[in-house]
Amino acid sequence: MVNTVHKFGGSSLSTSERYQHVAKIIIANSQAGDCVVVSAAGKTTDTLVKLWQSYLQKDSQALNDILLLLHNQQKGLIDPLLHGDIKHETLQQLDNELLIINQHISQKKLSEAALLAHGELWSARLLAAYLQTLAIPAHALDARTLFTLSDGQLLTQKNIQQTGQYILAEKINVVTGFIAANVQGETVTFGRNGSDYSASLLAYYCHANSVSIWTDTQGVFSTDPRKVKQAIKYSKVCRGQAHLLALLGNPVLHAKTLSPLKNTDIKLAVRSSFDIEATPTEVVKEGYTKQKRFITTLTNVDLLRVEGLHSKEVAHVSQLIQQSLHHFNQHGETYIIVPAHYTHQVVSYFAGRANISESNLNGCALVASESEALQLCTQAQELLNQQRIEPRFIHQGGSYAIILTEQVIDSDVLSELHERLINKGQELAIIIAGLGNVGEVFINQLSNQINRLAQHFDVKLVGLLRSKTMLFNASGVCLDTWQKQYKSEAAPYKTADLLEQIKALDYDHKVVIDITASHSFSQLYLQFSQLNCHLISANKYAGTAATPWYNTLRNHLAERNLHWRYNASVGAGLPINFALADLQNSGDEVIKIEGVFSGTLSWLCSRYDGSVAFSELLFNAQKMGITEPDPREDLSGRDMQRKLLILARELGIELDLADISLSPLMPQALTSGSWDDFIDNKQLLDSFISEQADLAEQNNAVLRYTGVLEVIEGKVVAQVGINFVAKGHALANLTPGDNIFVINSQFYKDNALVIQGPGAGTQVTAAGIHSDLFWLVQALK
Ligand code: ADP
Ligand code: ASP
Ligand code: MG
Repeated sequence: MVNTVHKFGGSSLSTSERYQHVAKIIIANSQAGDCVVVSAAGKTTDTLVKLWQSYLQKDSQALNDILLLLHNQQKGLIDPLLHGDIKHETLQQLDNELLIINQHISQKKLSEAALLAHGELWSARLLAAYLQTLAIPAHALDARTLFTLSDGQLLTQKNIQQTGQYILAEKINVVTGFIAANVQGETVTFGRNGSDYSASLLAYYCHANSVSIWTDTQGVFSTDPRKVKQAIKYSKVCRGQAHLLALLGNPVLHAKTLSPLKNTDIKLAVRSSFDIEATPTEVVKEGYTKQKRFITTLTNVDLLRVEGLHSKEVAHVSQLIQQSLHHFNQHGETYIIVPAHYTHQVVSYFAGRANISESNLNGCALVASESEALQLCTQAQELLNQQRIEPRFIHQGGSYAIILTEQVIDSDVLSELHERLINKGQELAIIIAGLGNVGEVFINQLSNQINRLAQHFDVKLVGLLRSKTMLFNASGVCLDTWQKQYKSEAAPYKTADLLEQIKALDYDHKVVIDITASHSFSQLYLQFSQLNCHLISANKYAGTAATPWYNTLRNHLAERNLHWRYNASVGAGLPINFALADLQNSGDEVIKIEGVFSGTLSWLCSRYDGSVAFSELLFNAQKMGITEPDPREDLSGRDMQRKLLILARELGIELDLADISLSPLMPQALTSGSWDDFIDNKQLLDSFISEQADLAEQNNAVLRYTGVLEVIEGKVVAQVGINFVAKGHALANLTPGDNIFVINSQFYKDNALVIQGPGAGTQVTAAGIHSDLFWLVQALK
């Protein structure tokens, strides 16, 4: 079975030393049955093209010179690599072939494709022979026995059968790239750079797991790394963008390479045959990586306007001139960009339908996400104008832009464009869990915030999760239409799917924002940290988990320099965490925090004056939607207990929930049983509260439900429960619903620092989460 199809381009086979190196790569990276697709060595195809042109021009001097050059080049490769009989045989075969070419020249029956095929035939033969001398079972295969086309269409069934027959499981199969045969048995080629396509086609026919394109760069870059030193290497590029780049004339992959892989899971990687340790670029399916930015140059092209241009015709012409071609519509006209060298051939193909609209142009093309392409195009024009380079023709279509100019875009200008347009800031991917009221408001405020952060960071929302369905798009979910998109595209998921998607994200930074109230989701935090995600939580469960788990999470995060913010889990948007951090950073020491950290209990206690039964107030609050679905969750005080624990941990105090004593705001008898039982026995609640309120009154105090954390002589005392608060105290005069934090420290000993305000509500909670996100970006800058 074929595991991997390796492909080595001409640049990887340019000298005998490179062949030796390639053999080493094959030995280390392949197994019996694998295929190795090879291109013509170095610039052999260019030389064969020149031979063909000299033949057409009947330039016999040039013909002789080129034949001699080819002979010497091949001999130069064979000599150091092979020995004895096998060397003799290989040289003999070369001489015979050159002789036949010569005869065909004299008999005027040379065929272009058959001539060009020699480059690949020589490479495959030499590499297979060299592997054999290293005792590696290998054989050379002429791809014309594997790939047959009829009228330009591949005969899939026949080709699958042929590859099944000729690819040997016990050998390394060294296959010629670039060439195939038609049903008449004549040679056809896949066009310049076509060996990439041969490799993906072969992988498709033999159900290989992966294709490795070994070349002379470390992978796919934001621009040609030979021209721009600062080119960014991408670890992942999506298939659509790779295809577009190729159509726009970029050589790193052939345009058709992706088509056989379309509905398969065959992996495609571009790797360096010069530096095998370097991480490859994976070319992945759409949605598995975000859209990247690229800039590629165009040289010596003509712009043709063609009447009624059909994409089938483009494919034909592309086959005819052996070049990838890009065509597009603009203002009702159809254009095609053609390397100037082939314009004559293309114009005659269209027999009067093609007009040269602009000729001898250069320029550049930008490839980016749809949301960025237009803006990049405008910026590129401005930058070119500053360099006194006047665009002659501009086309912006969806996710790319083409700018044609008279001047060549040299390395300096390309570097400048790259620096200003492509190499922009770091990227942060956001995954949001929990799309309830707060989640919704948070997302709706997000596009504003993203603009605010845009100066330093490119922030994208890539994942939206509910408990059972998720919408994930590595390129970013559109913030204007996320709800619609969620409705139509969200799909059921398992935790493993989510982790897989997060793992695949190739952003500089990732953050999971937990706006759920889910205990089970909080348990995934460790896994998120292992995937290098920062965390922001409004959810209180992780922050109040048992100390060993909590410490493990903290350690994991610290080891990876990851941040965890949970501002909104206590006091919603109130800046309590900032205040505590600030006090500690300024050398102060917090001695006591006391307060009301539950909006519901604040509202109930502040409203209660004995005139209306407490249970009535409770039912009203429930109707107003400010209680938990079962209001006993609020009355139990557990929520405040969790918040107090979070505050304690903010102060660096090691504590567990069980260390915080808790007494509920209801008689013990009502804490269990159904909600209906509770309603039936509401007078128990009413008399309990009225007794407590009377007791408070007798002490010139009011009934409040508070939490307190105090450090007394190094010992921590923490409790949540009913408190009789003196009438003049800050806790006694609370606007119903407000939270309050009264902080005593060494510096604020006699006169406490008080933070007070709404501690619940969608707007302020969402704002609290935004504050964490903003803080995170500042910290990452
Ligand atoms: P091979 O001989 O392996 O097929 P090619 O010469 O066809 O290699 O393609 C690799 C070349 O593509 C590199 O040497 C590099 O100069 C050029 N190139 C242009 N743009 C890019 C890019 N964005 N990323 C990587 N390489 C690029
Ligand atoms: N040898 C051919 C070329 O130079 C095919 C390839 O290299 O992929 O275009
Ligand atoms: Mg190539």
